[in-house]
Amino acid sequence: MIRAHKFDVIVVGAGGAGLMAARYAAHNPNVSVAVITKLYPTRSHTGAAQGGVGAALGNISEDHPEWHAFDTVKGGDYLTDQDVADVFAKEVIDAVYELEHMGLPFSRTPDGRIAQRKFGGHTREHGKAPVERACYAADRTGHMILQTLYQQSIKDQVTFFNEFHVLDLIIEDGECLGVVAYELATGELHVFQAKATVIASGGAGRMFRVTSNAHALTGDLTSIAWRRGIPMEDPEFFQFHPTGLYKIGVLLTEGARGEGGILRNSEGERFMERYAPTIKDLAPRDMVSRAMYLEIRDGRGAGPDKDYIHLDLTHIDADIIEERLPDITEFARIYLGVDPVKELVPVQPTAHYLMGGIPTTIDTNVIWDGQNTIVPGLYAAGEVACASLHGANRLGTNSLGDLLVFGRRAGRNASAYAETASFGTLPSDVLERSEAMLDAAMSGPRTERVSHLRKELQDSMMDNASVFRTEETLTTQMQVLKQLRERYRNIGVEDKGKRFNTELMEAIELGFLLDNAQALVAAALNRTESRGAHSREDYKERDDENWLKHTMVYLEGDEVRIDYKPVTLGRYEPKPRVY
Ligand SMILES: Cc1cc2nc3c(=O)[nH]c(=O)nc-3n(C[C@H](O)[C@H](O)[C@H](O)COP(=O)(O)OP(=O)(O)OC[C@H]3O[C@@H](n4cnc5c(N)ncnc54)[C@H](O)[C@@H]3O)c2cc1C
Repeated sequence: MIRAHKFDVIVVGAGGAGLMAARYAAHNPNVSVAVITKLYPTRSHTGAAQGGVGAALGNISEDHPEWHAFDTVKGGDYLTDQDVADVFAKEVIDAVYELEHMGLPFSRTPDGRIAQRKFGGHTREHGKAPVERACYAADRTGHMILQTLYQQSIKDQVTFFNEFHVLDLIIEDGECLGVVAYELATGELHVFQAKATVIASGGAGRMFRVTSNAHALTGDLTSIAWRRGIPMEDPEFFQFHPTGLYKIGVLLTEGARGEGGILRNSEGERFMERYAPTIKDLAPRDMVSRAMYLEIRDGRGAGPDKDYIHLDLTHIDADIIEERLPDITEFARIYLGVDPVKELVPVQPTAHYLMGGIPTTIDTNVIWDGQNTIVPGLYAAGEVACASLHGANRLGTNSLGDLLVFGRRAGRNASAYAETASFGTLPSDVLERSEAMLDAAMSGPRTERVSHLRKELQDSMMDNASVFRTEETLTTQMQVLKQLRERYRNIGVEDKGKRFNTELMEAIELGFLLDNAQALVAAALNRTESRGAHSREDYKERDDENWLKHTMVYLEGDEVRIDYKPVTLGRYEPKPRVY
């Protein structure tokens, strides 16, 4: 017997983007809404976001959405679609006030307004100096957003299917008709039929060894959509955040530098003065991560192996650190035994954010190609989606804003569509792909172990496709991935049980990670220039003449095909990126 459900709108994922979409869809009384999530909602990675959400409120000093849009475009190394940046910078202001009205406990200025602080790449007057734009709740901003939105979703009577893993999108004649999901508690497959499906499943940082991302961030839906013929846009742009705790990658928010923190090499030098003379430690993340690697490479790394950089907060008033950065202070104490109030904290760049993803229009419709051909009934928002807002490098605090703005747009648009559309007819073999995937993992020969393959994937991606890349490292990585994919066919799981078979789900997730890695490396090898987070040592310059375009990577059989989509330009002419 098939377990079947019918909702007008289905949202996959219960992070900030998913909850925002679900709430807005549920505001339409004629539309039923369900959220399907593999994690309990408040465990979604949005809850780990620390530093803040950027919006030009101007509470501390003068600010304007135009300045925010410009910073986003320049931060994205001009690969950002400028119409998207404009809409984003305007709508995020109102979205932040909306959160405030929902009761989100923001930190406050002495006169009671939402407090704001500086963050990388956010400037006044088009790059003159850093501006206070990040609205924050100490260093627990994401936690507060997630809790607030979850409470509101319960109030709005959204139905939740928690610990259900989506394994497939149901696509018939080019239209999306819903999803198939695996219930972790019972091992049963469920069919969710929907008029409109919103994908909000977050990132894919787990393809790298050192990452700030939670274990669940395995790029499931980018891969599932890919297998269904939907391209991945701009996957070569993967952000490394400069300040992960040494070796373990746990994040120390950029807010630490926003509050005055300084990066120092082994000689105690504030080296960012050489790389970004105007905004120094608050340069965009791609530049800071590269500078850190270059310092290490030139022998100025700290520690016995000279392989990390110091984050110095010791000159900041201890009360400010405890009040505005309590969590990260605790992380440094617990994980490294270092007290940031008195000591320098060892840090290194950590894999953090997927700038690319499932391509969408400005209205969050998923598209099949570079001509914006819409997949009817399918929407995407949040980190999994690529609305071309972040271009080649996302600015800090622009992801939380993205969740709010585009989660809201997805919810509204999906519910408007569902109101007029009717349910499609499901194909008779609706479970086939999901069953085949589960069977392969359940009854595989078990001559390869999932944990070993995953480790090899993560180590090799770190070595060959992280902050710096060359044709040689990327070609090597293509070979490694080819072998890993072949060996993946020989996995198998020991646990043959139905209930809470997490081993089985980890095996499936590894398959998704391998797809994400393949798209990333193919696109990185193809793009013979350096732009934003994609830094080719054999092609050091940005090449606007040939490469001012988005990559669209398709899976065809076992092969990867690459196509392009134009960048929407606007009032900001691409210029050299100096900070
Ligand atoms: C440590 C850390 C700190 C950060 N700090 C900031 C910050 O200060 N400011 C900022 O702007 N950005 C920050 N970011 C980035 C930002 O938090 C994320 O990009 C954003 O929260 C992603 O939200 P999301 O809703 O897209 O996905 P997530 O919050 O990751 O949620 C994904 C959801 O999808 C579900 N899901 C995934 N796969 C499946 C599947 N197969 N089936 C069913 N459900 C599935 C999960 O259960 C989960 O509910 C930070 C990120 C990290 C890791």
